[in-house]
Amino acid sequence: TRRVLIAGNWKMHKTTAEARAWCRAVLDGLPDPVACEVAVLPAYPLLPVVREALENSPVRWGAQDVSAHEEGAYTGEVAARQLADLGCAYVVVGHSERRAYWKESNALVAAKARKALEHGLVPIVCVGEPLEVREAGEAVAFTLAQLEGSLEGVEAPDPGRLVVAYEPVWAIGTGRTATPEDAQEMARAIRDWLARRYTPEFAAGVRVLYGGSIKPGNFAEILEGPDVDGGLVGGASLDATRFLALATAV
Ligand code: 13P
Repeated sequence: TRRVLIAGNWKMHKTTAEARAWCRAVLDGLPDPVACEVAVLPAYPLLPVVREALENSPVRWGAQDVSAHEEGAYTGEVAARQLADLGCAYVVVGHSERRAYWKESNALVAAKARKALEHGLVPIVCVGEPLEVREAGEAVAFTLAQLEGSLEGVEAPDPGRLVVAYEPVWAIGTGRTATPEDAQEMARAIRDWLARRYTPEFAAGVRVLYGGSIKPGNFAEILEGPDVDGGLVGGASLDATRFLALATAV
């Protein structure tokens, strides 16, 4: 019942012309019907461009972050209602880059997730351990504690309205992918935790993605994990051909 989701996180890449060309190439190359759900997450200024290119197509779009505030004097921030107004389906919250470089706390991530839900956006809540934590054998405990903090006060009655992404920090942009077994083990632990925190029915419907150095060559085996419901893809999403290879690997 959980439809595989492949979301391309462009991070701070692409101009308007590059975004348009990517959309055109992806729409040209996508099979009809598409076996999985496909989404792209560009930088804020590209959202209107992507919207224009992808409207009435099977590809959805979303943002990489959102303000925890409703609206007001918050220079540089972007509100959930503005993202909803631009037709966003998804918004990433708690990406490890934001946690590391902007010191985002679990409490802030949870506030962003709640704000996204208030405006009908599906938050993609990112969690994952740094290398030293994995080497100490604490990856599951660390990641679940981070998830607990990042979902504080988040009530999501419909499981289709929450996505969790497991992105081990040591795998992001490093070329070092988690093994399919590690990805499955963590996805399973996350789902079990969701069952305890919410209900088993809820947990069974929430999509748990893996992210970190996904490429066409390793994605299919990662997806074999029964609890791994898709991928959050950075580098390999930038090139339309590579992204299409992922979307058709399902
Ligand atoms: P890479 O696929 O470039 O490792 O990035 C993963 C990521 O951070 C997606 O959000």
